[in-house]
Amino acid sequence: MRLVVQTDKKTTYRRVGARAALAALAVAALAAGCSRPAEPVRPAQGQQRLQAPPARALDSYATRLRASAAARAAAAKRWGLRQVPLTPPAPPAVKPRITARAGFEVAHQEDWDLPPVFTTVPTKDKIVFLTIDDGADKDPEFLRMMSELRIPYTAFLSDYLIKDDYGYFRKMRDSGVTLNNHTLHHPYLPGLSSEDQHHEICDMQDIMARQFGRRPTVMRFPYGNYNQDSLVAAKSCGIKYAPIWNEEVYVDHWEFREDDQRMRRGDIVLTHFRGRAEWNGTMADDMRRFLDYVTAQGFAVARLEDYL
Ligand SMILES: [Zn+2]
Repeated sequence: MRLVVQTDKKTTYRRVGARAALAALAVAALAAGCSRPAEPVRPAQGQQRLQAPPARALDSYATRLRASAAARAAAAKRWGLRQVPLTPPAPPAVKPRITARAGFEVAHQEDWDLPPVFTTVPTKDKIVFLTIDDGADKDPEFLRMMSELRIPYTAFLSDYLIKDDYGYFRKMRDSGVTLNNHTLHHPYLPGLSSEDQHHEICDMQDIMARQFGRRPTVMRFPYGNYNQDSLVAAKSCGIKYAPIWNEEVYVDHWEFREDDQRMRRGDIVLTHFRGRAEWNGTMADDMRRFLDYVTAQGFAVARLEDYL
């Protein structure tokens, strides 16, 4: 059996589809506004009632969009970002087919239909996905920052780190974040029997369902390490995807998986819930580094679950 080894040192935001539709409508409204003649053309008798409601609706959409863009720009300034983060495109109408990355599959990967381990989502869009692991640091400032900036992310939680404050992660869930499985105790799974792996993975599914009201379908193996037993156990208790990452961001540097040290479209980026106790900065500092780099490279941050 092949052992796959990784290193791991360790809103209310609207759905982007709605936002894109809103943007299209607003552009139409603004374009109409630009070409409006100085002398309004009086509608024919009987037409006023028909035309008035959509015109008002468009104006309201445009106003809301402008207010939303202004709020985001103000939030970017308030949180010390160099640029306003880019808005991701609408979620794909047809989800991409996700398979295990070459070299990351296990025996019987395909014929047993085991959850794929992957580092990048196939997409032509210039987007990356933010994933945040473990759950040690529970910084209220981080929740405010991400909600105000409307940056989507996915959390992978390990019970021994979150059980002293499930409430913090309920607030995170209520802001639109999907909470996923990162095992009970963050063990090196390939060192455990299949029964113990089942306990670590599937008992965490039960805790997540009880504490957060939803049984995850996505999990991340601690340190990115797993074997066939890990995938069999994960599948048996409802896991469909096991994403790892192609870049890891720390408060003071980035680490790339690829030799050319570049981000790619659809890359999954890893960081951790860590504060000053673990590294030289706060979660907000970590996010500033992440967002400034991603935006400068012309990437938007999209929601992983929209592509699964
Ligand atoms: Zn971890």
